[in-house]
Amino acid sequence: MKLFPKFLGVLVPCFALMASIGLWVERDFASEIETQDLAQRVGSLAGKIATSMNRHDAANQPQLAQDLLAPLGHEPSVVCAEYQASGQLVARYPQGLGCRNAVFDDSIDLALGPETFLRVALTEDNWQALVNAQLRNSMISQAAAFVVALIAASIGFQILVSRRLSRLNQAIRRAVIKRERITIDEKGRDEISELVVEYNRLAKIETKLEDALRQRNQEITQASQTDALTGLYNRVYCQRHLSPVPVPDVDMTTLAVLIDIDHFKQINDTYGHQVGDQVLKEMGQRLTNTLRTDSTAIRWGGEEFLVLINNIPAESAHKVVERLLNAIRQTPFTTDEGPLRVTASLGGCPIDVTDSRDLEDILIWADRALYLSKQQGRNRACLVWSTHNAQGQLVPQNLAGGELEWIGILSSTSSTSRSNDMQHAS
Ligand code: GH3
Ligand code: MG
Ligand code: MG
Repeated sequence: MKLFPKFLGVLVPCFALMASIGLWVERDFASEIETQDLAQRVGSLAGKIATSMNRHDAANQPQLAQDLLAPLGHEPSVVCAEYQASGQLVARYPQGLGCRNAVFDDSIDLALGPETFLRVALTEDNWQALVNAQLRNSMISQAAAFVVALIAASIGFQILVSRRLSRLNQAIRRAVIKRERITIDEKGRDEISELVVEYNRLAKIETKLEDALRQRNQEITQASQTDALTGLYNRVYCQRHLSPVPVPDVDMTTLAVLIDIDHFKQINDTYGHQVGDQVLKEMGQRLTNTLRTDSTAIRWGGEEFLVLINNIPAESAHKVVERLLNAIRQTPFTTDEGPLRVTASLGGCPIDVTDSRDLEDILIWADRALYLSKQQGRNRACLVWSTHNAQGQLVPQNLAGGELEWIGILSSTSSTSRSNDMQHAS
């Protein structure tokens, strides 16, 4: 339940209770005071009338006596009045009836002379009616005051509490649901302001923590996807980002090339692991320097590397592979043991040799080509190529089954020539 209806739920009974107590007290006092007041007033009025009666010899002027009695008719407590002089009824109120058959609670009898008196009869019922009427008026004015106070309290509550709390609420909700943290402008010094100030502080701390966490996560992700020795991507990166292999542009292909350093065990065994590491590191640099930025070099494991060359025309695949081969073999590697000649065997395969863009499927073919390079004497590259079947669909060459139609082999002998190095392996 919202705070404002709750507030009203407390406020309304409080007002009602206050009003009831007020009315009850007012009624109690009022009836007493009114009763006394009215009795006194009628007494004093009767006294004045009696004096006037005597002064103007009303006993002998019935009309004047009647006129003098008239003001008593305006008193709500007066039931009837009679003026008798020398045993004779000279004037009465109400006219014609006087106090005959009248029912009253009290009477004021004023003796004005021998057998001359003024009697005024009073009743409490009329006083009560008057008191009730006053109480009713009082109730109406209290109810009006209550409504005005309620409207004022509602507006005040909205400005001082509801609106500010709902602003804070919205900010917290945005922070929780959308992870957006906004600072709330708050100038007051009350409890809500303190709450807002604390929220702002919390939001700032959270933002800082989140930034730090995001950066840490990025670092962890980066580290988990990067090979520590070479700085190249590792297999985890491949699995997360390169499988399926991105679709190349129209009339383009993506080439996967597996590179395996030749006789690397010997390097380790001859010069030590440290030199082996230096070779691996430099290999990483050479691959990166040879590739365009939209291609990716990955340390596939041990002394094996994978290169994904994106968006190249199929006919220039062999050029790229040749460039890689030469980048490795043309200049010796720098090691602590002096310059070291290193060669590698390459197995390449364009992604359209299979229908699948699953990297593992493509690498099966690249691995076969690499195996062939090793078999043919190392320090060379084999490219698996696809061919069209009877339906005109691209199908991979079958390297193992001897039905291979075409496989280009870049020989170890020439580093510059290209097409003439290609052998038909089928
Ligand atoms: P091949 O020409 O047939 O590829 O022979 P190879 O000696 O290169 O292949 P082999 O699989 O026999 O040996 C690979 C070696 O690479 C064995 C392993 O100790 C070494 N190696 C794997 N990872 C690392 C590494 O991070 N640092 C170093 N220094 N050596 C490594
Ligand atoms: Mg190997
Ligand atoms: Mg090797």
